[in-house]
Amino acid sequence: MTDTSPSAEAAPGLPRLRSALTTFPPYIPGKPPAEVPGLTPYKLSSNENHLPPLPAVLETIAAHAVAPAAYPDDAAAALRRELADRLGVGTDNLVVTTGASELLVALTQITSDATTEAIYPWPSFEMYPQTTGLAGSTRIEVPLRSDGTHDLAAMAAAITEATSLIILCSPNNPTGPVLRDAEVREFLTAVPDHVVVALDEAYWEFANTPGAVDGLELVADHPNVVLLRTFSKAHGLAGLRVGYGVGHPSVIAGLLKAVIPFGVTDLSQAAALESLRHWDEVIDRARQIATIRDGFAAGLRTQGWEVPEAQGNFVWLPLGPLSDAFEDACVAAAIAVRNLGDGVRISIGPPEALDRVLEVAAAFRAEHFG
Ligand SMILES: *Cc1c(COP(=O)(O)O)cnc(C)c1O
Repeated sequence: MTDTSPSAEAAPGLPRLRSALTTFPPYIPGKPPAEVPGLTPYKLSSNENHLPPLPAVLETIAAHAVAPAAYPDDAAAALRRELADRLGVGTDNLVVTTGASELLVALTQITSDATTEAIYPWPSFEMYPQTTGLAGSTRIEVPLRSDGTHDLAAMAAAITEATSLIILCSPNNPTGPVLRDAEVREFLTAVPDHVVVALDEAYWEFANTPGAVDGLELVADHPNVVLLRTFSKAHGLAGLRVGYGVGHPSVIAGLLKAVIPFGVTDLSQAAALESLRHWDEVIDRARQIATIRDGFAAGLRTQGWEVPEAQGNFVWLPLGPLSDAFEDACVAAAIAVRNLGDGVRISIGPPEALDRVLEVAAAFRAEHFG
C-alpha cells in the first residue's frame, strides 16, 4: 500500500495541520470494477446490497424529492418513534445519524482525546483507526485470532486506566465471524463501568449463527454499551446515509451534542422510515443473501480455501502476500474485490458474479497451490 498520510511538518508556505493526521491512513473506498470486453462488470468491493431497495421505498424516495429549501427535522422524530417501537426501546435511547459512520465519529469525539486509549480488534472496519486517531487517542489494535474472531481475552488484558472506548464488530468486517452472546457478557465483566463499549452491528441482519450476540439485549443490561446500526447494508440504502445508535439516554444526550445538525435529509429519513415499515421483507431478503453467502463460502471451502465463519454479506479470503495477485485475477475478470493487504474481502453479489469469482478462485488455486 502506498503511504499517503500527510507529514507532520507542513511544507514551507502551506498550512500546518494537526500531527494526529500522521498517525493513521486515510479511508480507502472500494474500487469500481474494470471494464473487460464481453464481461458484465461487478462491484463486490463495498459490501453494498446488490438488491435495490424495496419498491415501496423507491416510491417514497421519488415522492420526497421536494422542498429542498427547507431543513429536515433535526430530531428525525418520526423515524425515531418508529424505530423505538420496532426495537422496543425509548426514543431517548436512539440517535439517527448520517450513516453509522457519523455515529462512530461522534462516539469517538464524546469519549476520546489525546489523554485516552481506544481498543479495537484488527483487522476490522477501516474507520476505527481513522476516528480514534483523529481524536488523538492512543490506538490499541488487538490482533484477531487466526480464525478471524475477536481475541476478547487479549482485549480485556489491554484495558488500562486510560481506556475510554472499546469497539467490537459483529459480524466483523472484513473477516466475517460473529461474537457470541456468552463471550461478550463475560468480556463486559472485565470492562470498568465508565468505559464505553461500541458494538458495531452494521451487518447483524445477515447473521444466522445460533448464539450470536444480540446487541439490544446487551444495551438493556449495560448502560456503557452503545449499538451502531445502519440502513446502508440490509436495507440497501447506502447512498442515502442513514444510521442509528441505541444506548443509555445519558450517552445518547452526549451524542446529540456531537452529531452534525440536520445531517440526515428529509428524503433519507422518509426512505428509512418506509424501509422500516417493511421490516419483515428486509429481514427476509437479508436471509436470502445469507443463504447465497453460505453457498458461496461452501463452494470456496470445497476448493480447499480456508474461509472464516462468514456472517455478513461478504466472505474473507486470508490470502496474505497473495492478496495482490488474487485481486489482479479478479480485475482481469471484471470483478472488483476489496484487497486489504492481509486478505481479500468479496461482497455477496448476483449469482453470476459469484460463479465467476469461484472460477477465478479455482484457477488461482491451480496456479498458486496446484
Ligand atoms: C458499512 C459499515 C458501517 C457503516 O456504514 P454507513 O454507511 O456509514 O452506515 C459501519 N460499520 C461497519 C463495520 C461497516 O462495514
